[in-house]
Amino acid sequence: MADGNISADSSWTIQDAERVYGVSSWGGGYFQIGDNGNVHVVPTPNNNDVQIDMKAVIDEIRSENIQFPVVIRFHDVLRSQVINLNETFIETIKEAKYEGHYRGVYPIKVNQMREVVEEIVDAGNPYAYGLEAGSKPELLAVLAYNTNTEALTILNGYKDEEFIKLALLGRKLGRKVVVVIEKFSELQLLIKVAKELNIEPIVGLRAKMQSKGQGRWQGSSGERAKFGLSISEIINAARLLQTHGMADTLKLLHFHIGSQLPEIRAIKDAVNESARIYAELVKMGFRLEYVDVGGGLGIDYDGSKSTADSSRNYSLQEYVADVIYGMREVCDLEGVPHPHIVTESGRAITAHHSCVITEVVGEIKPDGASVDLATGENEHVLLKNMRELSLSLQEQSAGADEKSSLRNYQEIYNDATQYKEQASDAFGLRVIGLEELGKIETLYWQIMRQVQHFYRHAEFVPEEVQSLDFSLSSQYLCNFSIFQSAVDSWAIDQILPVVPITGLHTQPVNNGSLVDITCDSDGKIDRFVIEHAIDSVLPMPAYSRDEPFYLGLFLTGAYQDVMGDMHNLFGRLNEVHIFSYDDDPQDFYIEEFVRGSNIDHVLSVMQYHPSAMAIDVKKLIDKEVSKGNIKPREGVKWTDFYENSLSAYTYLNTD
Ligand SMILES: *Cc1c(COP(=O)(O)O)cnc(C)c1O
Repeated sequence: MADGNISADSSWTIQDAERVYGVSSWGGGYFQIGDNGNVHVVPTPNNNDVQIDMKAVIDEIRSENIQFPVVIRFHDVLRSQVINLNETFIETIKEAKYEGHYRGVYPIKVNQMREVVEEIVDAGNPYAYGLEAGSKPELLAVLAYNTNTEALTILNGYKDEEFIKLALLGRKLGRKVVVVIEKFSELQLLIKVAKELNIEPIVGLRAKMQSKGQGRWQGSSGERAKFGLSISEIINAARLLQTHGMADTLKLLHFHIGSQLPEIRAIKDAVNESARIYAELVKMGFRLEYVDVGGGLGIDYDGSKSTADSSRNYSLQEYVADVIYGMREVCDLEGVPHPHIVTESGRAITAHHSCVITEVVGEIKPDGASVDLATGENEHVLLKNMRELSLSLQEQSAGADEKSSLRNYQEIYNDATQYKEQASDAFGLRVIGLEELGKIETLYWQIMRQVQHFYRHAEFVPEEVQSLDFSLSSQYLCNFSIFQSAVDSWAIDQILPVVPITGLHTQPVNNGSLVDITCDSDGKIDRFVIEHAIDSVLPMPAYSRDEPFYLGLFLTGAYQDVMGDMHNLFGRLNEVHIFSYDDDPQDFYIEEFVRGSNIDHVLSVMQYHPSAMAIDVKKLIDKEVSKGNIKPREGVKWTDFYENSLSAYTYLNTD
């Protein structure tokens, strides 16, 4: 990567910005860089004429006095993803003359926000697209929201008696609720409860697969998988149902080999394996109707179309074709009916629809400050040495031939680094004072900038000098918490695209990593996809310090939106929900504003009593007033200030 201060180049184009930030590679057709250098949203990818300028959305948010950071949800994107998945299955099924239907479900754990679930249910209604739940709270939500009686409700996860009763309530309401058995004892419980209540269940069996997904979640299959039945258990389960006269309730075979599958091979293998199990069960006399191939459809977060953990080496079309054709082939060979196909894609449905917009609130530079370098009396030899180095560097740049310079620059780098380390030791041993240390530090960073500048166009750059690009780069302090808004980037090194929202029509002038406002040194992002490779710094365009400057964290709609934690009590973000207008391609409206966490809310979660605290603090202030330490009028102001602060947004107020 280029060094800290890149001089502006007037030949810079939008194509260059596209190459650097890769917006169309990871954007799935929903994001692009507009001619004005702002990031644009294209809500329906096959209609490029409808484009929303993200800067216009931000301006609208500001005019509504909504504080940043903000989550922006594009409901059109969510709808498009649901339609796209269903239509792709319908087309492929037709093309393959496949005899089953597609009956997808959305697993709500990926993003349980009510507005998200409602939008998905609504967009999926014409396709009888259903919902999946993996816990009791999710099941309660799904029972209330998945009201299409043609759509499936799939229940995964470990279950107790209450869970099973709720599932059977769904059956009473005329829904296609499938209880997927994750461990054998659940089946015994299900049979017992179903008999007691005299309600016919729909039973699914989750198979422990031999086929392994690659990537971070490969532990989801194989013998040590947490969920699912072994082949012997599947046989026993089917037989147990038969003994109870319930063979006909067994309708679905399920597997899930992991999330974010980077490799298409794993999907093909698993489809083949599940088709074989399905066919054998059918031949044993069990009339299964559905094969549920689980989730795992990946997202190309880094835009590389590779088998890297943050990518996928296949398209949606390929995925769907491999499922349909793979299933058809085995079924035709075995002479069994084609089952209906269920998928549980979550990430692929929701990742694109939301992003986090954060403001840059400061820039931390390693050499941000310098002290007066005036020569003092009796300077320590370490400082003198550093001065001489700095001086010799100036002579270097004035004359000398290229080759000898190269050698000298590396020497200067090494010497300066050594002097700085020695100075730090000397300070600890009380050999030099604070002022001298400050001068040494200032000189050191000046030298490092010059060394870096010298190597800018060099063919060979020594490794230690390469690392200067990072150590001399800025840290952009951004108003957000990575633990709330991008937890996977902290927890599992997930790559999420980060792009400045404006200024992309000009060449970047600086590089930097991001740090958040938590008091945690892990609260940072220093892995970016730049020019199709992982880089530790993000190129930044010039921006005015007088105006807020915004960065977008993209593809946060899956998991990130809902898995965040309360580190430092920052809590949930303000959210705006955006819809586009059909009749005006550039226009949009904020359909809803969902307020993020206020301070009193996050304190209450931690068992504080904010209103009692306000009274206590008022008493303390009154006491100082009565002692004459605070004037009565000021006391009232301080009391109000404390109370108002309790109801404020948890993040930095930059207005
Ligand atoms: C998490 C999960 C999913 C969703 O996986 P994605 O990779 O987000 O599509 C689907 N099914 C089951 C059983 C899951 O646990």
